[in-house]
Amino acid sequence: MKKFIIASNNKAKVKELDRILNPLGITAVTAASEGIDLGDVEETGKTFAENAYIKALAAYKKTGMPSVADDSGLMVDALNGEPGVYSARYADTDKQRIEKLLFNLKGIPTQERSAHFVSSVCCIIDENTVITAEGKCSGIITEEPHGQGGFGYDPVFMTDSGKTFAELTAEEKDRISHRGRALRELYDKLSKTEF
Ligand code: IMP
Repeated sequence: MKKFIIASNNKAKVKELDRILNPLGITAVTAASEGIDLGDVEETGKTFAENAYIKALAAYKKTGMPSVADDSGLMVDALNGEPGVYSARYADTDKQRIEKLLFNLKGIPTQERSAHFVSSVCCIIDENTVITAEGKCSGIITEEPHGQGGFGYDPVFMTDSGKTFAELTAEEKDRISHRGRALRELYDKLSKTEF
């Protein structure tokens, strides 16, 4: 098995990537498990793709090993694409982030509450091999939270299914989500790449 560094401290993310990449002979590990401290990497990019690249490059430079990073967020049309790359920094907790979003959309009718999630993934294998993938998922922002599953903005993001992300099972969400789509694209591209 070839080790790939996942530039994230989120154990669930590392596990998910490990499960997806295993069939390609790749095992996903954190830098910490290799005894390397990645420190804090400032997400200074204006796009999800830029931030994914910044994080993957920082990990690659520190470890010298193939490195994968992802960046994601929610873009709401009526708010000119906000919270966008600031999705995680919009407020302190998931509950507060949702409250702020609903407050900013107060009075806006359903047909104008369109939004989409984006997930950008960057994988740096070596100086000459950089693989990128991106997934999107469109929906609307509901007026109130529904459902107990998922995380982040899931309770207020509703897709065509008529259910919010928080009302779907993990498998149902994976099938249509921005992250699921980006990771399937990464898998396809990696399966055609030498590493
Ligand atoms: P990241 O870890 O820097 O990519 O932060 C992305 C932020 O966007 C998270 O903290 C969530 O607030 C939001 N986000 C990204 N993907 C999802 C999702 O699938 N459901 C709900 N919120 C999400």
